[in-house]
Amino acid sequence: MDNNKTEMNRRAFLQTTSIVAGAAAIGMAGETARAESYPAMPKLAEKPLKPSTLATEGISRKTHEEHFKLYQGYVKKTNELFDRIAAVSRETKDANATYSEIRELKVELSFALGGVKNHELYFDILGGGGSAPQGKLLEEINRSFGSIGAWTADLKATGIAARGWVWTAYDHDLKRLFNFIGDAQNSYPMWNATPVIGLDVYEHAYFIDYGTKRADYIDAFVKNLNWGAVGSRFGLAMGPASTLVTIA
Ligand code: FE
Repeated sequence: MDNNKTEMNRRAFLQTTSIVAGAAAIGMAGETARAESYPAMPKLAEKPLKPSTLATEGISRKTHEEHFKLYQGYVKKTNELFDRIAAVSRETKDANATYSEIRELKVELSFALGGVKNHELYFDILGGGGSAPQGKLLEEINRSFGSIGAWTADLKATGIAARGWVWTAYDHDLKRLFNFIGDAQNSYPMWNATPVIGLDVYEHAYFIDYGTKRADYIDAFVKNLNWGAVGSRFGLAMGPASTLVTIA
């Protein structure tokens, strides 16, 4: 009798041990698979402010320097979010549309990465006071808006109506340029459209220089556009066959 009990205990122990060992093996394999299935995200590097951007007439160096600090913050947070997104649980049970880690990380990534992209565009196309659109870009502005004056009026009105951003973008489906509106770094983006101008109308972009006079800031922005940089972006948007880029 005692021998039978001992044998049963031994079998129960071995069974339990093998179940635990098996579960551990599955868990380890699962963790390994998760770690291997999602590679590390790339690290973004800051793009420096160009001297020509810092020399913009009507938008002070102080404004640009303070503004650039916000951009640096977006780069830093994007990299932090990349790391956390690479490591976040992708178990179905952990994902939830009301609240879950993967949801919150990806929603905030759209703000941080949007902040990086918007500001890199903004700083890149400023600092060419006196230049003018030329070639195919000029033709497209005239075709889409009627004239440079009409494009400017629409940009200005859209900028006053926006809470954060305006993008002049070429919509590859509509096959035209359009001034899209954005309230935040990540609101109302349009797919299959390439922005060639990004106008930041958050107060930090002009309050030091203009107070509440946003319209005057937009005038200064337009006067200081680097149309060569805008033309290059338009050329890339239209494809390598395009012969439209004329640097002023
Ligand atoms: Fe900004």
